[in-house]
Amino acid sequence: MKISFAFLVSFLLIGLSSCFKGESADYVIHNGKVHVMDLDGKIFDAIAIKDGKILEVGAERQILNKYSADEYIDAQMKDVYPGFTDAHGHIMAYAKQKLGVDLLECRSYDEMLVRLEKYQGKHQREFIIGGGWDQSKWNKTEFPSNEDLNELFPNTPVCLIRVDGHALLANDCLLKKSNVIEEVTNNPEKYVGGYCEYKDGKPTGIIVDNAMNPILEMIPDYPKKEMTQAITQIQNELFGYGITGVHEAGLTRSEVIYLEQLIDKEVLSLDIYGMLLPTDKNIEWAKKNGVYTHENLLIRSFKVFADGGLGSRGAFLKASYSDRHDHFGHLVTNVEKMQEIASICEKIGYQMNTHAIGDSTNRLILEIYESAFGKNTDHRWRIEHAQVISPSDIDLFEKSGVFPSVQPTHAVSDQHWVIDRIGADRLKGAYAYNTLLQKRGMIAIGTDFPIESTDPFRTIHAAINRKNSENKPMGGFLINEKITLDECLRGMTTWASYASFQENQLGTLEKGKDATLVIFTRPIEAHTTYQPNFSYMTFIKGKKVYSVE
Ligand SMILES: [Zn+2]
Repeated sequence: MKISFAFLVSFLLIGLSSCFKGESADYVIHNGKVHVMDLDGKIFDAIAIKDGKILEVGAERQILNKYSADEYIDAQMKDVYPGFTDAHGHIMAYAKQKLGVDLLECRSYDEMLVRLEKYQGKHQREFIIGGGWDQSKWNKTEFPSNEDLNELFPNTPVCLIRVDGHALLANDCLLKKSNVIEEVTNNPEKYVGGYCEYKDGKPTGIIVDNAMNPILEMIPDYPKKEMTQAITQIQNELFGYGITGVHEAGLTRSEVIYLEQLIDKEVLSLDIYGMLLPTDKNIEWAKKNGVYTHENLLIRSFKVFADGGLGSRGAFLKASYSDRHDHFGHLVTNVEKMQEIASICEKIGYQMNTHAIGDSTNRLILEIYESAFGKNTDHRWRIEHAQVISPSDIDLFEKSGVFPSVQPTHAVSDQHWVIDRIGADRLKGAYAYNTLLQKRGMIAIGTDFPIESTDPFRTIHAAINRKNSENKPMGGFLINEKITLDECLRGMTTWASYASFQENQLGTLEKGKDATLVIFTRPIEAHTTYQPNFSYMTFIKGKKVYSVE
């Protein structure tokens, strides 16, 4: 009896003392390793959160004594980081990919046909769309043709988009329905850079870059309900990896409206920095609205496609492709149009974020940017991918302050064939993330999902070891261009937030910023082999959006 009385007294005393503790908080996360990601790389034990913001970060006792929280979370000595941002991804394309036929990792044309048959048996679509095939995984260098596809689907249009999004395979039914061959043949100026492949005078069904437009424009939308389900799934996948923000690289006007609806319905809580495609509708809208915020959606940039990809030999090079004589690739948007977009961006305070893969394109874009910049020196205009750059042009990044936005997994995915395309000499300025970082002082890091996996730990491994998730190649691909773990983490946090003008809300765990953070299941360390890792708990603006439990 005496013992329980003493227990009761001490219990009351503790209770009273916590009532008298100064300030109230929604959450206190303690007993963790809280990585602030500020300039000096401070690490604390605890963090207090209220109304979506960080109240304070500090030592265990300091935070526990000062705050009385609705909920205490013991981080069990786990790493706590600012939520990761994927600085270049495609949520809409990923959702569509999930609803179509998944052809990623297909090891042969026949396997692709089997997957198509299975899918159609289940879904009975009137228009079949698939994506993710890559003939280099079938040990073929040349593109496939559509003969077997025609046999399997004589009356249903089928559109199969290559993994890089720069080529597609259409069956004859779709070629006929879209009239793409005639359209492209009769209007070459409208489809500059694009082409349809032929074999023995007959179209093979392969359509490259701009020539894909007549087909892409007629692809029907999936039902809204299915899209919403897919986007919810993607958001959970991202939260599970500790990703709390995405720089969505290319939105139409109707996609922006749709994302706003998802935000209003509280389906979408991910931070989204949406880059607008330079369509007439978007340009008109941007001129009227300028820098625009709708809850967790921020719009202040245009995404421009300047050239194609290296895989489909569409990237625009200064000298001929090493594996195709007299072929240089091509621009997919003409110079005048890009200059026009640049001057609009300059006028309305938008960033111009341009997809540039080839060395010729990178040089051209740096020049277009340079001549468009007005008095504003804090423009943060970006080059997305910045993949092959002449060493002599790399200094321009330093001079102009143009921001490289790179995807380290691309380097290790392309390792098997890129030397065929561009030869050993041009590899010196390819996937040169360390050089770019040293020049510019910052890089933004993303994955380009769904071309690559959303897994940021593959990105970390590719960036710091220059290896893929199978730990290949042994010595690392272009190993001199590796960056450190800390630099990679900054590319996904602090520097990514700077690349989107969000450094005042996001990117570090400092007082007053959004309580957007992740507790990771395993320690984040520089390993020499790929180490999967996942979120233990993810918060966005002080709201728990994901937990392993
Ligand atoms: Zn992309």
